[in-house]
Amino acid sequence: MSVERQLARLTKEYWGWPLFPLALSLLSQGAYKSTIAAAAGNVVHALWQVPTSCGARTRDGMPCSRNAKGLLRACGIAQHQQQRVQALVHARNWQVVRERLLQNWLPAGMLAGSVLLFPITGLVALVRLVA
Ligand SMILES: [Zn+2]
Repeated sequence: MSVERQLARLTKEYWGWPLFPLALSLLSQGAYKSTIAAAAGNVVHALWQVPTSCGARTRDGMPCSRNAKGLLRACGIAQHQQQRVQALVHARNWQVVRERLLQNWLPAGMLAGSVLLFPITGLVALVRLVA
């Protein structure tokens, strides 16, 4: 694979990672709308595009180790995609969701940080508006 193709693939798969530190930097500079945009981009990337492992339960009870894209998505096996939807819909299966987030702790951590940036940005903007 050529260097250009590798760079294009890496850019396509990892474009959302720098958005979280960028959002933190923008928040510290008081650019609230840009902070929200960067955090939203990081959330979209983490949920639908970040390279992860599938993690669905296989027949022998082990987590599937095939590649998947995004914390919400499974690998190409239809049963694993169905299992992912069921895990999100039924509260009794949230242990599966928790295990998946722990398996992919770095994108999950940035997702949580980005989601937290929405109310934090709102509070900071409100405090600056009042003060
Ligand atoms: Zn799978």
